[in-house]
Amino acid sequence: MVTGTCRLCGSNTQLCDSHLLPKALYKYARMERDGTLSKRQPITMGDGIALRSARQLKTYLLCSDCETRFSSGGEQWVIAHCLKATGEFPLRDLLVKAAPNGAQRLKTGYSVRAADCDSIDIDKLAYFAVSVLWRASVHHWGIRDKRLSSLGEKFEPLAREYLLGHIGLPEEFAVLVKVALTGSDYVNAMYTPSLATKTRGYHHHSFVIPGIQFDVLVGTNIQAADRAQGCIVRGDGHPVLLMTDISGIVRAQVNASVKSKPSRGLLDEFGIARRQGVKPAP
Ligand SMILES: [Zn+2]
Repeated sequence: MVTGTCRLCGSNTQLCDSHLLPKALYKYARMERDGTLSKRQPITMGDGIALRSARQLKTYLLCSDCETRFSSGGEQWVIAHCLKATGEFPLRDLLVKAAPNGAQRLKTGYSVRAADCDSIDIDKLAYFAVSVLWRASVHHWGIRDKRLSSLGEKFEPLAREYLLGHIGLPEEFAVLVKVALTGSDYVNAMYTPSLATKTRGYHHHSFVIPGIQFDVLVGTNIQAADRAQGCIVRGDGHPVLLMTDISGIVRAQVNASVKSKPSRGLLDEFGIARRQGVKPAP
């Protein structure tokens, strides 16, 4: 047992060995349709690195009360509704059922009003997304000494207040949920949070679990971002994006990580030409 200060509530007590991403997802991300475990490990992306790794990222971070808070606040619902190796995908099925009531056709799929479907727990999806980003931000997870996404001194306390249940989703945050409509080889991918883009007024963080991509926009000017209208909490009808092929998103992310030295194996796997002057990570 390790005693220390819980990073969320600040109490000095026994700490749990907390995962960055829920432990169950590591298994889902590697499971083949026939129930065997794939040799392909989940993809880990950090600031300046992208590779497949068997290492489960965990550390003594939270007290047992806060572990329970994260678990019941979002994890349990998200794990129960994400894509399973068998092809079972409860969240997608709920969205497809709700889609005829005014889904909006987009270039990459459909925007579905989760408000039309009682069974989609909007608050738990948003809470889970912010909890993972916050965890990435408050600890040096030590992926080859590279930092993952960071909320910074300004927004980390806001996220903490939200996660403790003291306030609603802060105005400076927008959570976008993208769900794969069809299966693909890459829906088994799992990405740790990384900073996708940094635009004036806000930062765009992103991570992937089986079948679902979460984008969190954070900044003083996210209202100015077109994409903020897609926020599952504040967007009209609580929109969720049903993507026709999420593998495109995954490939785009790996492509974007060319700047951040992906491993040679990943470059080959995704057929991304090595750019001149970009040396893959060893
Ligand atoms: Zn705590």
